[in-house]
Amino acid sequence: MTYSNNNVGEKSINTFEFRSIGVISTPFKQKFGIPRQSQAISVATGTIQFSPDINPTNACRGLDAFSHLWISFIFHGNRQGIWKDTVRPPRLGGNEKVGVFATRSTFRPNPIGLSVVKNGGLNEHNNLVVEGIDLLDQTPIIDIKPYVHYADSVNHALSGFAEFAPKQKMHVEYSKLASLQLNTLASAYPELQALLNNILEQDPRPAYKSATKDDKIYSVLLHNFDIKWQV
Ligand code: SAH
Repeated sequence: MTYSNNNVGEKSINTFEFRSIGVISTPFKQKFGIPRQSQAISVATGTIQFSPDINPTNACRGLDAFSHLWISFIFHGNRQGIWKDTVRPPRLGGNEKVGVFATRSTFRPNPIGLSVVKNGGLNEHNNLVVEGIDLLDQTPIIDIKPYVHYADSVNHALSGFAEFAPKQKMHVEYSKLASLQLNTLASAYPELQALLNNILEQDPRPAYKSATKDDKIYSVLLHNFDIKWQV
């Protein structure tokens, strides 16, 4: 079959329009502090609220047989249209440039993200619970697919500069006051301290500061808490 041109009706087939299938609620209220990959933060839980035109019971029928899912989403927290064909990945200390397609940079020609998450199933409100997320609160979700072990995992795949998970982990200590507050909050937010540990031990500061000591007081927003910390 041959096509005389690349237009379908009025629209060029080079341009596509998507709509979100839902929106995810997560503890991460700002980009700073969000881990750089989803599996790095197994305790972070999110819930996907489906758009009104999607019937979760139908659209997710059979999904509970899959322990893990791919979710595609929009990096809605970035200014749109801002991307460069080379980027400096934090993993390379922020000094070396590589092509955007050789990275998981959030600044891309199309602002689409992809994360593997654990499937927690539909909850009582018909929201899909997912665990191990690296998404900003209210991120628009554009698709969900089952993770298929035999097809999606490649033994001995080479992973360039990201071959190994970051090794260096910071030691995290809490002040007396913070420990008290965390204890008080433990019943309402059972995962809060584990989540905070996960975030802080990965040292969320910009790459050029990693492994250095500085006096600055940093803050991360988790749920509705503004958490202050220092290295
Ligand atoms: N696993 C995904 C995301 C990797 S980048 C992928 O490979 O496509 C992870 C970073 O995305 C986090 O550190 C966070 O700062 C950023 N991020 C998450 N949700 C975002 C959003 N809605 N808008 C902009 N940045 C976001």
